[in-house]
Amino acid sequence: MKDGDGWTRCSAGHDHWGVYGAAGLLLVAPGPAVLLQHRAIWSHHGDTWGVPGGARGSEESPVQAALREASEETGLDAATVTVLGELVDDHGGWSYTTVLARAQTELPVHALDRESTDVRWVPVEGVTGLPLHPGFAVTWPLLRTRL
Ligand SMILES: [Zn+2]
Repeated sequence: MKDGDGWTRCSAGHDHWGVYGAAGLLLVAPGPAVLLQHRAIWSHHGDTWGVPGGARGSEESPVQAALREASEETGLDAATVTVLGELVDDHGGWSYTTVLARAQTELPVHALDRESTDVRWVPVEGVTGLPLHPGFAVTWPLLRTRL
C-alpha cells in the first residue's frame, strides 16, 4: 500500500506528504504517557517530535494506515491496541487523521525506519516541553482532552 506516497498541495497552499492524505497514531498507555517519534533532522519538519504515521494508501482507512505505519516505524504490535477514535485535521484537498488508541502498558518500541531517530513513551505533562512537529503542535491540545 505505497500508492499514496508523494507530495500534494492542500487548499491552504501547504505541501504535504501523502496524495490520499495521511494518518498517524496517538497511542496512550497508563501513566499516562504517549508514544512519540523523533523525526530525523533531514526529514520534512525534521528534528521535531510527533506521532508515528505517514501516507495513506488509496484503499486504506485512516485507522489501517495509522496502525500499519506505526508498526513499521516502531515495531509495536498493532493487534494489542484498542482504537478509541479519530480526529481529522482537514486542510481542504488534503487531511491528516490522528487515530487515538490505548495500550495496556508501555509496549516495547524501537525506531525502525530511517526517518526516525528515536521513539519514546513521553509523559503527557512533558509533551509541550519538546520541540513538536507543527501539525502535531496544533492538534495536541485537542487530542489531550480526548485521551
Ligand atoms: Zn495544508
